[in-house]
This record gives sequence, C-alpha cells and structure tokens, in this order.
Amino acid sequence: METKRKICFSCGNRIPEGGIYYNIELKITSGFDGIINERPSPQRIRDILKSLEDLMSIEAEEDVFKEIQIELCKSCKDKLISTLVGERIDQSISDKN
Ligand SMILES: [Zn+2]
Repeated sequence: METKRKICFSCGNRIPEGGIYYNIELKITSGFDGIINERPSPQRIRDILKSLEDLMSIEAEEDVFKEIQIELCKSCKDKLISTLVGERIDQSISDKN
C-alpha cells in the first residue's frame, strides 16, 4: 500500500511513516460590534464607500472570511499554539473545569 508522504507545512520536515502529525483548520471571520465611534467626515464617508467597493473584490473577501487547512509536525503545532494563545490556553482550559 502506497501512502502519501506527509510534510510539515511550516518547517518542511517530513513526517516519519507512522508518525503523528496535526491537522490545523483555522477559520478567521471578521467581526463588528455595530458601534461606530466617530462622526464620519465627508472624507471618511468616501473612504467607507471605497471600502464597500473593495468588498466586492475577491481580495477583500479574504479579509472577511479566511479558512486555512494545513498539516504540522508536533513541534510546529506547539509553536503555533504558543504564538496564538501563549499562556492563555492553560487558563481557558482551567476555566472550563
Ligand atoms: Zn514542522
């Protein structure tokens, strides 16, 4: 049986046969609390209209919603988690208990 060799997306190291790797699925969506803190100036209104035009483009779509799927080795998975949430992950786990 031929198995597809797994490569870590981050460091490029080959995952050894039978070795553990991690599927990372990252979903990023933009958020807005509905509050606009400023009284818009005419220039600001023009900027907002320009932004709305940009929203019609595919690049802007990625700014609103982005889904990433990668495979990482354990070392890179640990680094990713540390970079994203650092110490907070221990806190959020203990908060649930
Ligand atoms: Zn790696």
